[in-house]
Amino acid sequence: MSMKHRLIGAALAIVLSGFLVVSLGSRPAEAQADPTPAAANGVRTEQDGPLPSQAEGNAVWSIGDRTYAGVFPDGLRFEIAASSDQGAIVSARVIWTHAPGTQTRRSAGARLDADTGRWVAVWEPGTNQVPPWVLVRYHWELVDEQGNRYSSEEIDEVYADSGNAGRWKHLESEDVVVYWIDLPDEFGTRTVQAMSERREFYRQAWGGLLPYRPRVILYGWQARDEYEKLFSQPVFVGSVYVAGTTDADWGGTVQLAGMFSPADETAYGTVLHEVAHLYQHQFTRVTVDWFIEGDAEFFSLSRSGNYRGWARDRLSSREPLSFAAGFSTDGVNYRDGYWMGTTVWDYLTETYGLDAHRQVWELIAANVPRFEAIERVTGRSILEFEQDWRAWLGVFTPPPTLVPSPTPRFDILSWPTPTLPALSG
Ligand SMILES: [Zn+2]
Repeated sequence: MSMKHRLIGAALAIVLSGFLVVSLGSRPAEAQADPTPAAANGVRTEQDGPLPSQAEGNAVWSIGDRTYAGVFPDGLRFEIAASSDQGAIVSARVIWTHAPGTQTRRSAGARLDADTGRWVAVWEPGTNQVPPWVLVRYHWELVDEQGNRYSSEEIDEVYADSGNAGRWKHLESEDVVVYWIDLPDEFGTRTVQAMSERREFYRQAWGGLLPYRPRVILYGWQARDEYEKLFSQPVFVGSVYVAGTTDADWGGTVQLAGMFSPADETAYGTVLHEVAHLYQHQFTRVTVDWFIEGDAEFFSLSRSGNYRGWARDRLSSREPLSFAAGFSTDGVNYRDGYWMGTTVWDYLTETYGLDAHRQVWELIAANVPRFEAIERVTGRSILEFEQDWRAWLGVFTPPPTLVPSPTPRFDILSWPTPTLPALSG
């Protein structure tokens, strides 16, 4: 159950205003570094570095002292001293992202502090808290009364859990930034190793790497109070153990780790699975169901069981399991979605190559329905593909949807809730 996650939509995203990307007619307002090139596909990545400053109009801008304070869980505070030689500043705000190369931005308008003469922007998290240690890549946008605009260079900061700074440990590589608290160091070192070992597999499967290094924030069981406070989310919701949250908006995953599982299950299992969800969010369109969960688990290097054996047994049972009906990802049969779903991707890539994974998701990203995407890539109808997959698992009966006259499985009049009876243990 450690794979539980939620993907939060981009409803909070504020698209970067247009003038920032306009270069015609703009001129630098102060000494600036040579712009670093964007990635080949036009996406500016975390590794490309922060953007330099940019101005639009005729003003000469004077930019003074800038300060940043990001202290988890209280939020962010930015200050700047600035002026334009063309008139008073009428608008000042800060825009930031936690995940460069994505569309997600947050912003906060600033007010002028009459005592200090400085502009102050404050962000206080409500229900939209983000975890400690996420990246904060921010810049100021200023407008004077003549309509001249100035966009400061970007600066990289972090949202620090300063109050617990002595308890956190930290490692980073070209693949990942990992923080852990109240856990053995191997949770950090093995996460770095797992991400390195999986790098080229991710790259080929998606056609590129994430434009940012995912943040992996790991809490040990002794830190579960902090974990629960983070999103005001209890570890146990009824009988469901909610061990983590993954969110492309802040570019990472938070996990309560180590109570039930050793470091390698977290690093080579959970982390690689959750990072795959970030790839899905970056490269394609997602609906959270078995197709997505099976695909994420396909990237795990620490599987929870014998998925192929499970799939063979379940498909040989009398339960009506088929692509058409979909597979459960929660409740007692959650393994149907996670484990059987994984075998679909195993079968696809073993038979048609890892590039087939990329091709299927590229088509889905272009609005091709998922089954049609599989048909186009494999050259098989979806029913043929499903039968091929079943045969590969050792199941030679057709999927239930192909049975010409299915026998009613229960008398609907005698069952107030048409729940399928459990046929196996
Ligand atoms: Zn998942």
